[in-house]
Amino acid sequence: MRASRATIHLGNARHNLRVIREYLDRVSRSAGGRSPAMCVSVKANAYGHGAEELAKLAAEEGVDQLAVATVDEAVRLRDAGVSAPMVLYSLSLPEEADEVCAAGLAPFVADQEYCDRLAEAARRHHTTVAVHLKVDTGMGRIGCSPADAPVLARRIHDDPNLRLAGIATHFPVADDADRDFTEHQCRLFTEVVRRIRGSGVTDGLVHAANSGAVLAYPEAWFDLVRPGIMVYGYYPSHDQARDLDLRPVMELESRIVQLKTIEPGTSISYGRTYVAHRQTVIGTVPVGYADGYNRLLSNCGSVLVWEDGDRRARRVPIAGRVCMDQIMLDLGPAAPTRKHDRVVLFGPDPRGPSAEEIADLIGTIPYEVTCAVAGRVPRVYVDS
Ligand SMILES: *Cc1c(COP(=O)(O)O)cnc(C)c1O
Repeated sequence: MRASRATIHLGNARHNLRVIREYLDRVSRSAGGRSPAMCVSVKANAYGHGAEELAKLAAEEGVDQLAVATVDEAVRLRDAGVSAPMVLYSLSLPEEADEVCAAGLAPFVADQEYCDRLAEAARRHHTTVAVHLKVDTGMGRIGCSPADAPVLARRIHDDPNLRLAGIATHFPVADDADRDFTEHQCRLFTEVVRRIRGSGVTDGLVHAANSGAVLAYPEAWFDLVRPGIMVYGYYPSHDQARDLDLRPVMELESRIVQLKTIEPGTSISYGRTYVAHRQTVIGTVPVGYADGYNRLLSNCGSVLVWEDGDRRARRVPIAGRVCMDQIMLDLGPAAPTRKHDRVVLFGPDPRGPSAEEIADLIGTIPYEVTCAVAGRVPRVYVDS
């Protein structure tokens, strides 16, 4: 197998799921309420970790539902034998209605026209389609207006080929320190649900909470929560308390394939942006931006190098520009590094960079860092 790989620590994902479950149970119990069910986001290949394996793990851990973003993602999971209820978080095109039906998906819906197309497809397939009515209370992405929600809910409820499986909304700033907007959304959404229930429509799980709201808004847990990033071991932002022991699941690794000592004044990589000011040892690693290691990490990222037969770990900086398929490291003048020593680009080890550290360096979020790990990087699953 090639040098670069993404090791997926399934044990950490299992740990995170249990930590989340215990936390939901504990807080719900102390409030005297029922603990919500869980819908785990495995969209975008489980944030880059591998949807099939993470879906199977979630099922083993008793997770009630899974969520995907595209019909293709769902079909791939169904083909792999994943039978859990599956929510489709994005709006598909009306012409995908047959596939939605055939894959047994429960899509978010936001208007009558799409509901009608789904109902027609369901009739042709002699079945019913479960749908989740999405209400836009402030995300501004998909969803009907709060004013339209009761009528749509009633129409879905009355359609023999549709089943109202959920009533949902989404939060844009639940991971923010400022609580005003999310609290306003909670009130608005609760009022919408009250009006739907008031009209005699009593079906559908009520749900709203992404990771940010799982962490900070128990009042938004309702019947079902929808964590994503926290399952993969990261907090959605820096602005929330870190009370849960979440462990990063993905470890992007490679190996050193060439070592050389260079003299002062020697430049490294494209653009000659790195010039050695002393004699030093340079190591070349076959991972680059085409693997998902962002080019903005040029001359600014660092990695964890495992030396002395994997016994000692040391942080070293990237020297020069990140290339498409390779990077260079400045290992220092008296480096004990050997050819083929292991390099960790990010992962759960606190001595090395995390996906969050990388995200901070390049102005993004850990979600994008794990999602960016390319398809050509093999995922290696370990369970410990
Ligand atoms: C992706 C997504 C989530 C999960 O969000 P995290 O921030 O990863 O917890 C929940 N709900 C919807 C609608 C989503 O699209």
